[in-house]
Amino acid sequence: MTLVVHDTLQRRKVPFEPLEPGKVRMYHCGPTVYSPAHIGNMRSFLFADVLRRWLETSGYEVTQVMNITDVGHLRDDDPDHGADKMEQAARAEKLDPWQIAAKYTELFMHDLRALRFRLPQCFPRATEHIPQMIAQIERLIAKGHAYVVGHEVYYAVESFPRYGALSGNQGDDLIAGARVAVHEAKRDPRDFALWKHDPAHLMQWDSPWGRGFPGWHIECSAMSQQYLGTTFDIHTGGEDNIFPHHECEIAQAEGASDAPFVRYWMHARHLKLEGGKMSKSAGTFYTVGDLVEMGHAPEAVRFLLIRSQYRQVLNFTLDGLAEAAGSIRRLRLFEAELLERADGAAPGEPPAWVAEAVRRFDASMDDDLNMSGALDGVFTLLNEGHRHQPKGADAASALSALRRFDEVFGVLPLDASSGPDDAEVDALVNEREAARAAKNWTQADRIRDRLQEMGIELLDGRSGSRWRRL
Ligand SMILES: [Zn+2]
Repeated sequence: MTLVVHDTLQRRKVPFEPLEPGKVRMYHCGPTVYSPAHIGNMRSFLFADVLRRWLETSGYEVTQVMNITDVGHLRDDDPDHGADKMEQAARAEKLDPWQIAAKYTELFMHDLRALRFRLPQCFPRATEHIPQMIAQIERLIAKGHAYVVGHEVYYAVESFPRYGALSGNQGDDLIAGARVAVHEAKRDPRDFALWKHDPAHLMQWDSPWGRGFPGWHIECSAMSQQYLGTTFDIHTGGEDNIFPHHECEIAQAEGASDAPFVRYWMHARHLKLEGGKMSKSAGTFYTVGDLVEMGHAPEAVRFLLIRSQYRQVLNFTLDGLAEAAGSIRRLRLFEAELLERADGAAPGEPPAWVAEAVRRFDASMDDDLNMSGALDGVFTLLNEGHRHQPKGADAASALSALRRFDEVFGVLPLDASSGPDDAEVDALVNEREAARAAKNWTQADRIRDRLQEMGIELLDGRSGSRWRRL
């Protein structure tokens, strides 16, 4: 079977073939770290995680890069001269933009771990790649794709006839669609800033055009090519990135290098919350942290965000979340049951019902990551497993199929990734032992309670305490 993916540029499903056999290089537009990511953002990040996991399960060696935008992403109503989102947050929180970036990057990493991401190998930060951006802008100027006005540089859209091919926006649509504010400095209202000048901006770098800062779009073309090469396999993002961001990335990357930029463009659709738009004022706006605080397990959030196909609009509801938690419980119980039934046996030739579930799962995943079809495969295995009551090698085959499915879903193992690591638990257990030895019972109980909150059970014995994860 071959993986087939929907390429936004060709507007159809096409067989996936990497540039280099056996290897896949992919890039995802990461967060702008000025606030906590909401679950709509997370859906698009998780789509990339599922894609990467399926490629790895299929035997590819994957290099995944996700950038961190920490400068230059201006408010959408005026992308050339509006307020920088980082600076706005800095003013609101009485911090500097670097502190804002550090704070929300850390929170983002925490969310990724809680949602059990396979972390991208590289998270380049825009502020650490200014020289690469300047170099790309210089190439664009040299090739006639960009022009300097005072201390600023603009991309000359007219010089790149393919502009608009990804989004389908053409001519006048493009102007109206971009909601561009027309600045006199621009030769064409479609042109966009590559390097900006604003003496009041808090983050500034020297450049051949004076002190200033980069535009948001140039960040991603410069950083993706830096780590993945001039041409790479897959660029993913949310559908809201298609225009103008990804359209601009293509114009920059291909304008500067004269080589194709990306072989497959894949975009996740947006998310609805309880059937409507996410809205802070209506209370329908969640971050991962909000949901965890409400008592939901992060893996249930993960499961709900990935269980429908990425090109379908997803309706996220709290009922759906409870259902997702129920599904995970059923799968974990099934896993435990199979483990017991296998009783240490090695998997044999899979019985027909296991082979059929695997076939369904694989065919669905290969069909443009059809997760709802893949989930049918998973629950076929579960239902047939209950019917057949396998033992020994058959149970072991079913168990290995289930675990292979979970390479993609990533919800089965009890919380190890987001919970405390062994060393952390050991340290607390030792601390409690010391408190007990000193007959400081309040302190010892306090530590025991804290461990319990972390999902750790203590087994007190004569030779000290052992522990296990609940
Ligand atoms: Zn980007």
